[in-house]
Amino acid sequence: MPEPVDFFQAVVTAYLEDADHAPLLHDPVHARVVRAGDVTDGDLILAGLDMGGADYFNDPYTARPEPYAPACGCGVCCHLADHPSAVVVLSNRHPWQACDPWPADDLVLIIPAHRLPEQSTKE
Ligand SMILES: [Zn+2]
Repeated sequence: MPEPVDFFQAVVTAYLEDADHAPLLHDPVHARVVRAGDVTDGDLILAGLDMGGADYFNDPYTARPEPYAPACGCGVCCHLADHPSAVVVLSNRHPWQACDPWPADDLVLIIPAHRLPEQSTKE
């Protein structure tokens, strides 16, 4: 049976006053770190993460995952054709003219389309 857990608050940007670097602050309760392979349709993608920190995108975008096709011809998918592990496509020509392929194990900061149940109703 699922049990609620508490997470510590985390600072995920060094530029709190910069709107380009702090979109998370609009909705901090719902932001989650997930594997790219676990992103689902409708998740709002805010940043890529690695051990060095968060790389925020200028414009968060909505995930429209598709199966990865190395030979799709968009000009981006081909760059990951030799990646040693699984690759996923998080968006397909939306909002860009090319696909957005990611190694499935890379970490992504998202606002999930399907939010976790609220623990309390305080606003
Ligand atoms: Zn492609």
